Amino acid sequence: MKTFTYTGSPARVVFGPGAVSGVADEVRRLGGTRVLLLSGPAVGGAALAVRGALGPLLTAEFGGAAMHTPVEVTEEAQRVLDEHAADCLVAVGGGSATGLAKALAVRTGLPQLVLPTTYAGSEMTALLGETSSGVKVTRTSPSILPSTVIYDVDFTLSLPVGLSVCSAVNALAHAVEALYSAQANPVTDGMALEAIGRIACALPRIAAEPDNLGLRTDLLQAAWLAGMCLGTVGMGLHHKLCHALGGTLGLPHAQTHAVILPQVMAYNAGAVPEIMERIVTALGTSFGRAGAPAGVFDLVSRAGGPTSLRELGMLQNDIAPVARRAAATPYPNPREVTADSAEELLRRAWRGVRPSGGRQVPDLTWLTGQVVASLAGTPDDRTRQLVTGLVRRLHSFVTEHELTQAEWQAGIGFLTRTGQTCAANRQEFVLLSDVLGVSSAVDALASSRTPEATPSAVLGPFYLADPPIMASGADVATGLPGTPLWADIRVEDEAGKPVPGASVDVWQSNQDGFYDVQLPDLDGPVLRARFTTDGQGCLAFWSIVPAEYPIPADGPVGQLLAATGRHPWRAPHLHFMITPPGGRPFITQLFVAGGRYLDSDAVFGVKQDLVVDFTRQRGPAPAGRAVDGEWCQLRFTFRIEKG
Ligand code: NAD
Repeated sequence: MKTFTYTGSPARVVFGPGAVSGVADEVRRLGGTRVLLLSGPAVGGAALAVRGALGPLLTAEFGGAAMHTPVEVTEEAQRVLDEHAADCLVAVGGGSATGLAKALAVRTGLPQLVLPTTYAGSEMTALLGETSSGVKVTRTSPSILPSTVIYDVDFTLSLPVGLSVCSAVNALAHAVEALYSAQANPVTDGMALEAIGRIACALPRIAAEPDNLGLRTDLLQAAWLAGMCLGTVGMGLHHKLCHALGGTLGLPHAQTHAVILPQVMAYNAGAVPEIMERIVTALGTSFGRAGAPAGVFDLVSRAGGPTSLRELGMLQNDIAPVARRAAATPYPNPREVTADSAEELLRRAWRGVRPSGGRQVPDLTWLTGQVVASLAGTPDDRTRQLVTGLVRRLHSFVTEHELTQAEWQAGIGFLTRTGQTCAANRQEFVLLSDVLGVSSAVDALASSRTPEATPSAVLGPFYLADPPIMASGADVATGLPGTPLWADIRVEDEAGKPVPGASVDVWQSNQDGFYDVQLPDLDGPVLRARFTTDGQGCLAFWSIVPAEYPIPADGPVGQLLAATGRHPWRAPHLHFMITPPGGRPFITQLFVAGGRYLDSDAVFGVKQDLVVDFTRQRGPAPAGRAVDGEWCQLRFTFRIEKG
């Protein structure tokens, strides 16, 4: 039989709409005669209401409370306190205002009364987290616990819906972690389950009815009960991770809770199945059916809350260091936490993966570990890094989506057909990479990062090495039908100096959107050429205005596009590959301004700086050419890195 110790909270609680009217009596009850009123950023009309209700007891105010209780702010507030000889602290606001009251109380021993306006629950704990020089240190003391808490439901009506959702999930996290805490007991279990039930009922309706006093009452009572849990028993992995994410990366407190909770529940589910069942019951039929972790994920996402760390602005590169930090010191949690398992969990949270239903996904970290270990002897470091990263991501893809045999087979079949479709004049793998945006991603990493340089673009599948060499002024369309185009091109370095002697390959589609390699009846290469820039870095050529065209859609990539409801069209463009003497090739494309599909290019290749005017002209054409009717002119200066 489990043994436990339980100490009830001595805090006095006054709850109800309009409860602020009792604040003066409650201050006097604490022996206060001169109140310092503390608040943080905008909290609706709450501060005004407290001011009015305090009347002559209000002696001074400090409105600078901030997230994570910075020590400098506390010192500033203490100066105001000393100056006005206040003898009672009253805080109105979220966890930030409460934190400041706690920080002053522990320094001065003054009584504190808190009026919470969020669901953070800090008012129910004897715990204080303070930040000094960017480091958050936590301490506990009986004097940190507020003596009186007035929950005025009216104060929560102005809490924006997004914040209401995240803050309520913050409370939900206190309740969930209390249930599997080592110090769990029947009192906290009861409070936790009651809190979960109230949140599950109220949260889905709050977006549509933010002014519904009944819903707000449920959420605030849940926040109080969950806060009592937080103040009574120890928390686990969820709080550790949120602390690490908030502390190292400054991610927003309540939003981080909303993303992390379902992922931690999924991680712990197998270790505490009976507790997950109790949570399922508390969640009720709407959310419980999916299992506890997925139910909480659905609750958050349907209420419009964030579900991924990515949308909170976290960078993928930060996952591993945070995971290491969270696993560095042991702490109580139903399932052991290692740097690898924390990293896997954070990866799922970063992507916002919905936890699988009630079923347990087997833990395959041992298998991933074995494969990764087998690569340890790879002689080339970069190869080892790349193959290891690929294995890790493939394994987590398989587990994350619980890939079935049939799906695995379909995937292998797709890749096999992609390979079989490749030929001398068709590169289906490049096309696959293009439509998945991978080519553009690689291009973005490889391209120049200086704002002065022209942006690069993907190579595409139609480039042929060694195109026909032509002299400036030549016609690359060699008489093909289409609107004549005169291209006047200059190549400069980043300082604006001309780049003479650069080799410039040009290739494009015909007026029907086909490249020469797609037209077997065509004799020899056409609409492709290699020029060399003159002493001023210039070259010019005649061609025709390129048309939009569909990428080859008769193969596996076409099937993929059809299966995902996407069109295969590329916005009209000209390709360029510019190689300065002794330098590396610079690859880009120029898009026809006003052309179709600029906003939905099938290979994600359009960059705004590469969309240029192909100006319509009439009258005498350059280079002595007689043009009957309209022709277009393209003038463009490429700025490239010469090195
Ligand atoms: P918060 O107090 O900073 O408030 C978040 C935002 O909500 C603020 O911008 C605020 O202006 C706005 N807001 C609050 N009430 C409002 C209202 N009624 N109407 C309109 N806007 C309103 O943040 P929080 O999430 O309440 O608390 C987070 C802080 O509390 C963190 O520093 C966290 O570490 C701490 N905390 C401590 C404990 C503890 O036991 N020590 C527990 C939970 C949270």
